[in-house]
Amino acid sequence: MTDTWKNRTNLIHGGTRRSQYGEMSEAIFLTQAFVYPTAESAEARFIESGDDEFIYARYGNPTVRMFEERMAILEGTEDAFATASGMAAVNGALFSQLKAGDHIVSARALFGSCLYITETLLPRFGVEVTFVDGTDNDQWREAIRPDTKLVFLETMSNPTLDVVDLKAVSDLAHAVGAMVVVDNVFATPIFQRSIDLGADVIIYSATKHIDGGGRCLGGIVLGTKEFIRGVFEPYLKHTGGALSPFNAWVMLKGMETLELRCRAQARSADAIARALQGHPKLSRVIYPGLEDHPQAELVQRQMDCGGTMLALELSGGKEAAFLFLNALKVCLITNNLGDSKTLVTHPATTTHQRLSPKLRAELGISDGLIRLSVGLEDEADIIADLMQGLDAC
Ligand SMILES: *Cc1c(COP(=O)(O)O)cnc(C)c1O
Repeated sequence: MTDTWKNRTNLIHGGTRRSQYGEMSEAIFLTQAFVYPTAESAEARFIESGDDEFIYARYGNPTVRMFEERMAILEGTEDAFATASGMAAVNGALFSQLKAGDHIVSARALFGSCLYITETLLPRFGVEVTFVDGTDNDQWREAIRPDTKLVFLETMSNPTLDVVDLKAVSDLAHAVGAMVVVDNVFATPIFQRSIDLGADVIIYSATKHIDGGGRCLGGIVLGTKEFIRGVFEPYLKHTGGALSPFNAWVMLKGMETLELRCRAQARSADAIARALQGHPKLSRVIYPGLEDHPQAELVQRQMDCGGTMLALELSGGKEAAFLFLNALKVCLITNNLGDSKTLVTHPATTTHQRLSPKLRAELGISDGLIRLSVGLEDEADIIADLMQGLDAC
């Protein structure tokens, strides 16, 4: 790779390691362990491993390393460590740097499992968590204390696509020396330069746009060499959340088309949002790229475009939502996202079912809310499918 290559070139060539056979496509190194030519070289590798030297696949593997390097180049971070799933990444990014007595501030609108970690697990280990409305900079300002260790947020949030002002929150956090940990799945590495906005640690569920074909689970944590090698790696390699080499290979292949897919999906998402706006059966069409998004100005500043996700609110509540979902033929009912297939979810009864009705209401997750992850089908077919679904409810 060179410093002058653009994203789309790095997404195809970045981080590639070729074996002595000169294979064109990235090799899958399906090996747990590595052999050493001599006892002395084994001893030396355990003291310090070089770039092309591995010990055990829980610690690192050449295929996994290619994925980590390609992602670090894309994100603009010094280093990265891949994990078995997005949640292994979130769990590791938080637990590797927190201890009993620490204080953190977190946005309230989080992916269900992220909320479980911050609301249930961290307090069980003596970490104090203050939740804020992530879109309200004043709440962040009040909640961040001199002893706050880190702030955690998703931007955009799931499923209501709230945008957190990453630059403003990072400035507040950095003023007290707190780390900024961002779960960036919804914005994707293509549409938001989190590192330039102040994020210290960036997390992806690679299961989503990075795979893009709904095949494998995976995750990754990106940051400085000091954080990744000094804090994160010791935690992850000893607690067992390593990414499988096969899954890393699938992610590498997914990355080759990541930018093309994300841009095509975002273009369709924008067209779909505009086609649905003002439909009599919809009380809201939420798409960050629309001029009427409550944070349109911030979206303009922070992101390249509105992304690949949108949310619709049916005025007829749960009954209408179910009639709508059951009538769809192109769009599939599933809780995944970022796929080449267009996927629809009813958060209130699935991904966010566990939340109290009060919290759901606070987060804007009404019974009529549908989350839509826009795929790569012809946008005219997606729009026609959604329109006939609306006719049916
Ligand atoms: C899917 C997702 C996760 C969890 O990722 P897995 O790969 O399913 O473990 C975490 N955060 C966000 C925002 C997600 O969308």
